[in-house]
Amino acid sequence: MSLSPAMPAHTASCLCGGVRMHVSEIRGRRVLCHCRSCRKSSGSAYGANVSVPADGFGVVAGDALLRSYESSPGKHRFFCSVCGSQLFARSARWPGLVRLRLGALDTPYAEPHAGHGFVADKAAWDVIHDGATQYPGRVPEDRSDTAPPSVDCTTCPPKRPAAG
Ligand SMILES: [Zn+2]
Ligand SMILES: [Zn+2]
Repeated sequence: MSLSPAMPAHTASCLCGGVRMHVSEIRGRRVLCHCRSCRKSSGSAYGANVSVPADGFGVVAGDALLRSYESSPGKHRFFCSVCGSQLFARSARWPGLVRLRLGALDTPYAEPHAGHGFVADKAAWDVIHDGATQYPGRVPEDRSDTAPPSVDCTTCPPKRPAAG
């Protein structure tokens, strides 16, 4: 994880404050993932995740406190070993990206989410009240498996429509 001297665009931390991270850029849109792994690891209805470029992500304190769990082959979910906060995930399938858990953010972020993913796996007690699209599997805008993502980068110039 590289460390940039530039001012971070976002900061994030765990519950106990032992692990602190900086995030130069949030790319892609927030996805609410109701899959079994996100439910179990968060202890809640869903995970709220966004993609950030791995070269713009750094653990600035508490690296030694981090532990990870390989929830599926090649995918590691990192958490603080003191307070248990889920912080980010990395996968061999998308080496250029870090999937940040939005609950860890300390800086303002108010982008609308891109939809509900893996609704086929959602808990029965979880009633979705917003009007956002519900996908039985992965949210199409969630491009974490095809790094780098190309959706709604706030710092990129507007995209041209695809040819054809
Ligand atoms: Zn902690
Ligand atoms: Zn998930």
